[in-house]
Amino acid sequence: MWQAEVRIDLDAIRDNVALLRAGTTAEVMAVVKGDGYGHGMLPSARAALAGGATWLGVATLEEGLELRRAGLSAPVLTWLHSPGLPLERGVEADLDISAGSVGLLGELVGAAHRAGRTARVHLKLDTGLSRGGATPADWPSLLEAAAKAQAEGEIDVIGVWSHFVYADEPGHATIDHQLAVFADGLAVAERFGISPRYRHIANSAATLTRPDAHYDLVRPGIAVYGLSPVAGTTFGLRPAMTARARVSLTKRVAAGQGVSYGHTYVTPTETTLALVPLGYADGVPRHASNVGPLLLGGKRRTIAGRVCMDQIVIDVADDPVAAGDIATLFGAGDDGAPTADDWADAIDTINYEIVTRFGSTRVPRVYDGTAGVVP
Ligand SMILES: *Cc1c(COP(=O)(O)O)cnc(C)c1O
Repeated sequence: MWQAEVRIDLDAIRDNVALLRAGTTAEVMAVVKGDGYGHGMLPSARAALAGGATWLGVATLEEGLELRRAGLSAPVLTWLHSPGLPLERGVEADLDISAGSVGLLGELVGAAHRAGRTARVHLKLDTGLSRGGATPADWPSLLEAAAKAQAEGEIDVIGVWSHFVYADEPGHATIDHQLAVFADGLAVAERFGISPRYRHIANSAATLTRPDAHYDLVRPGIAVYGLSPVAGTTFGLRPAMTARARVSLTKRVAAGQGVSYGHTYVTPTETTLALVPLGYADGVPRHASNVGPLLLGGKRRTIAGRVCMDQIVIDVADDPVAAGDIATLFGAGDDGAPTADDWADAIDTINYEIVTRFGSTRVPRVYDGTAGVVP
């Protein structure tokens, strides 16, 4: 018997990757950072590989090492490293490591020496996001250092890459601009004798809408989990996560009764309240107070009053909802329940944040399907 659970459809993850794979001649790197966007990094990675992904992408060195500890042997790129990390562990584990500065490249060279082997590097160009990577002004000095380290056998430049600002708005002027800066950056790299096997810039949105940005490798994240990066279009993807809980208690209360902390909801009539055991410790955003949707007793309803740490209250009027009934916060969207997109709209955020928040440890994750499951 379960009280609250997050179900993950592994076959949906596999099928989403297969769909992305069918739309490109490039290889697919499934991005599984952030504990697989809340879906569980390892099962998600295995299901994505079963769907045809040939690479895995994560932000941190630790995430990459965890993939290796679990026995996953596909190429893995890690891309967010502060100085002083034990990068030699990444080199020993055969991780591909991104370098977007001369400083980090120097650390990688040191790591290669300590590991006694060549480091696999992807050089990152900042084409406008102003996050990781070398600016076009700093790019030649990074290339010069990389060409020297490559000549000395310390590194192998496997990739040159970048990341989009606004690919989720197809047609946005930044997309063409970044592609032009990227093409220039690749040309400059050639002049330094660097012609990487993998050139990559496309996230989910560009994978789905800009074939001209696919190059040799695409890096979808959100689409792997079946959520669309572009508002108003699903691209045939299937959401993999369902969050639900069983009603703990129902009770009749009088009209005019304040509900939950601060009494921000007051019952308009005599009514039935249902207590649902999921709260902000489990991933329900507190901003969903009085606006978060769910399916309960066959109807869409809205959270009554504040979201608490462990629970929410629903006003079900005179409907025959009882303790033990299932309240679905969001799911695949085919049974009348809201989707992560509905939640994102309700609280003015993005579907990415909704699912990633549901990665807490208190609510068990239950896996459906067989994709990538080790027999
Ligand atoms: C998170 C991330 C991705 C995946 O982005 P989506 O929008 O989820 O497809 C790709 N590349 C980098 C560098 C990222 O940080």
